[in-house]
Amino acid sequence: MRKTGSVLAALLLAACATPTEQTSGVERMYVINCGENHVKDVSRWTPGVNVGKPHVFSNHCYLVKHAKGWMLWDTGNADRLAAMPNGLSVAGGAITAYMKKPLVDSLKEIGVTPADIKHFALSHAHGDHSGNANLFTAATLYVQRAEYAAMFGPEPQKFGFIPDNFGKLRGNTAMIIDGDYDVFGDGSVTIKAAPGHTPGHQVLVVRLPKTGPVMLSGDMVHLQYSWTNRVAPSFNFDVPQSMATIDAMKAYAQQTGTQLWINHDMEQNAKIPKAPAFVQ
Ligand SMILES: [Zn+2]
Repeated sequence: MRKTGSVLAALLLAACATPTEQTSGVERMYVINCGENHVKDVSRWTPGVNVGKPHVFSNHCYLVKHAKGWMLWDTGNADRLAAMPNGLSVAGGAITAYMKKPLVDSLKEIGVTPADIKHFALSHAHGDHSGNANLFTAATLYVQRAEYAAMFGPEPQKFGFIPDNFGKLRGNTAMIIDGDYDVFGDGSVTIKAAPGHTPGHQVLVVRLPKTGPVMLSGDMVHLQYSWTNRVAPSFNFDVPQSMATIDAMKAYAQQTGTQLWINHDMEQNAKIPKAPAFVQ
């Protein structure tokens, strides 16, 4: 009788311990400066508003330290731009892209090499997110089926992709996703489908141990303005789908108390500690 009781107690203890273990997988996250994009006219991103005004978009990569290993989210502007102090003019001169400090150097400062990263995902495959993707061939690539098809299909350029940025990922172990995916199986890092900007755009929800859940936006929205006012640029792959994604993610964020961290919003990012410091 006593034996049964202790077994039951052990089972109950195990059951009680489970939720704590589920939230403790993520140890910390590094927000890495991964370049800047200077634009001549911000209204390209905010149709009809601030027409003709220049703007500076921040750009970040996010490195998550989970008990089961490192995960990198996005790779920023290409490291080769570090050799171009005046930046690289793209999109017919509308954007000048800078990368003052190569991603490999930022990783080195944290004590990580590209080969250490075993879990890897891009919010989407545009150049300011996939600039250094080819470094991460040792990782499992987590990618939406629609994005993978666009990246490695016959016409990646049609989606605004530069195939040379990520060509080496063709050989990676790939986790092809349709929808949401729990990366470490403990609910601490979840990829969520957020299509519209590109066919298989996705966002990442990271349950930080002290800060709580944070959603990394990718380009679901580029600016706080776009999130608040439900605005999508006309160059998105699918504008109505972009709006539906914003609505769905707003509902999710409200229901779960998740903060949205907007990659390209310089003003919001000024408040977030950058690598080699980290957030918890
Ligand atoms: Zn972007």
